[in-house]
Amino acid sequence: MSLLSIIVPCYNEEAALPHFLPEIQRVAGILLEQYSLSCEFLFIDDGSRDNTLELLRTYAKEDQRVRYVSFSRNFGKESALYAGLENARGDYAVTMDADLQHPPTLLPEMFDALQSGEFDSVATRRVNRIGEPPIRSFFARLFYKIVNRISTTDIVDGAQDFRMMKRPMIDAILSMAEYNRFSKGIYGWVGFKTKWIPCENVERVAGETKWSFWKLFLYSVEGITAFSTAPLAIASLMGVFFCLAAFLWIIVIILKTLIWGEPVAGFPTLACLLLLVGGSIQLSLGILGQYLAKTYLETKKRPVYITGETEETHKHGAKAIR
Ligand code: UDP
Ligand code: MG
Repeated sequence: MSLLSIIVPCYNEEAALPHFLPEIQRVAGILLEQYSLSCEFLFIDDGSRDNTLELLRTYAKEDQRVRYVSFSRNFGKESALYAGLENARGDYAVTMDADLQHPPTLLPEMFDALQSGEFDSVATRRVNRIGEPPIRSFFARLFYKIVNRISTTDIVDGAQDFRMMKRPMIDAILSMAEYNRFSKGIYGWVGFKTKWIPCENVERVAGETKWSFWKLFLYSVEGITAFSTAPLAIASLMGVFFCLAAFLWIIVIILKTLIWGEPVAGFPTLACLLLLVGGSIQLSLGILGQYLAKTYLETKKRPVYITGETEETHKHGAKAIR
């Protein structure tokens, strides 16, 4: 019998989990009955500060299929997804949010698509951004436009982290053990055939979103620098452009003085040039620094996450750090 690992990152989800668990158990029953597919529920507690971990402990006691990995602190959703894939034992794995924004009722349909043999993964894609602040939609669209223009990796607009994969794709993703993770780019980079299912925006069932505008902005910078080196080229191009402009300007000034005998106004010229040169240097340095910082973090080869507790270590009463 095949096994499906259902990976659920949880950060302060004590309000949503009591809604999520019965729903996923119900759908797991359907999967078992109709497709003889068994499920494991793999919760990743991303260093929650509320009762999430206690809830998971109880769930693991009550239901054999529940497993969990609890981080020693908050490492972010990307790390949680990685930990989930790494700990998954299934032939298939699906990643989904704990707030029921990724409807479990879609799972049979997704599994169907994988079974047809034509696809290696199935993912949902938002058809609209209704219910989202317009300013956020605007910046999201802008981000996808920019990143797809300057990167060779296909990063799909509206793609959600609700994705079911076969084992080869899971292993491919795990082979990318980079520290700065941007999973939409990673999915695109590893390739494989993906079926896209259109999906309406659903409201979160309980609790509140963990993403602020600022967090999303930083995440988008991550996405650009992780999958494109074009900004580095922009810096050099701007340098070339400014040098050419300055060169032409100097020629104009010399000709003006030589032919028409015009006196050169010193201060404005200097001020303009200083601004121009200073600005372009600073910009280039900033962009360089961005990449240098990423390289610095990668070369440290830090683990993507650190486990504080799992259902197994909890059962044996010992705390293992891996
Ligand atoms: N999440 C996480 N770590 C974080 C932030 C979020 O594991 O640092 C989880 C969260 O518990 C949820 C999923 O990621 O299951 C999506 O988060 P959320 O619903 O807050 O994001 P939104 O749906 O608003 O984009
Ligand atoms: Mg959500």
